[in-house]
Amino acid sequence: MRVLVTGGAGYLGSVCAAHLVENGHEVAVLDDLSTGHRDAVPDGCRFIEADLAEAAPAVLAEGFDGVLHFAAKSLVGESMEHPERYWQGNVVTTLRLLDAMRAQGTPRLVFSSTAATYGEPATVPITEDAPAAPTNTYGASKLAIDHAISSYVSAYGFAAVSLRYFNVAGAHGRFGERHAVETHLIPIVLQVASGLREAVQIYGEDWPTADGTCIRDYIHVDDLADAHVLALRHATPATHRIYNLGSGTGFSVREVIEACRAVTGHPLPARSAPRRAGDPAVLIASSERARAELGWQPTRTELHRIVTDAWAFNQRHLSLDRS
Ligand code: UDP
Repeated sequence: MRVLVTGGAGYLGSVCAAHLVENGHEVAVLDDLSTGHRDAVPDGCRFIEADLAEAAPAVLAEGFDGVLHFAAKSLVGESMEHPERYWQGNVVTTLRLLDAMRAQGTPRLVFSSTAATYGEPATVPITEDAPAAPTNTYGASKLAIDHAISSYVSAYGFAAVSLRYFNVAGAHGRFGERHAVETHLIPIVLQVASGLREAVQIYGEDWPTADGTCIRDYIHVDDLADAHVLALRHATPATHRIYNLGSGTGFSVREVIEACRAVTGHPLPARSAPRRAGDPAVLIASSERARAELGWQPTRTELHRIVTDAWAFNQRHLSLDRS
């Protein structure tokens, strides 16, 4: 297929673009490089440096079989301090994309949604039928887009899949997580191991969990990318399907730090810090629907494997940055 990947110079977009190329698709990456990196665009992809909202009509007029839409703002804290950036940058921009797809008759969309659309879960594991009650503007903006996609799909008949990610981590060779502002646990712990930070802060040790720290469902970015390739293949006209993507296993903050110690051999000093606002105690996905309908089978579910790949990427980048 001829596929447009928006945000394909970012972490998830670059890994998924690489998987698409490896699966024989013809890929164009559109990215404004506001948070992405030019050298993260995989070989074999055409690169269009542009603002998505402005460029969507002209780019889609070239004729694509599908769009994988990653381009978005994704910092929870920023979304609370500057909500306009999320309503404008995520919702309005995606509406422009949907209008351009409608005008050009682009048949398929795979959208990068998030577990943040659910908010604090009443029960775990979280299925797609769980109530959507986001606790931050980032999650609310992604949920609003899911609603918009549903109504466009029922009115205009294209095929759409929203993939709701849990905690994505790991790397795919030279493609991995390189954020200017890092908030995620595994990259932060690995920064300590690389000497870029002194210690990791544990946000709360009094949660109602076995060791008192928060539990999350970590999914390897390669398993996530496999799901995107399958979603593109299985997307059905006039249907908007939503799938949760996680490994189905939870690991505590302490277990993650321990796995990082084992992989890096660094003592990784950890300090107790106050709870972070908006953090639920436990988030674990049920991905039964993705397994049943897409035939998705995550295979890199061991925490040790996820951290090993993230660490290899981290080391590679440090040595490139220093050379
Ligand atoms: N966390 C932590 N210290 C950090 C960063 C994160 O204790 O420096 C915790 C955070 O409170 C959460 C878990 O690690 O319980 C995963 O956080 P992350 O930001 O990676 O992902 P989130 O679940 O918020 O999407």
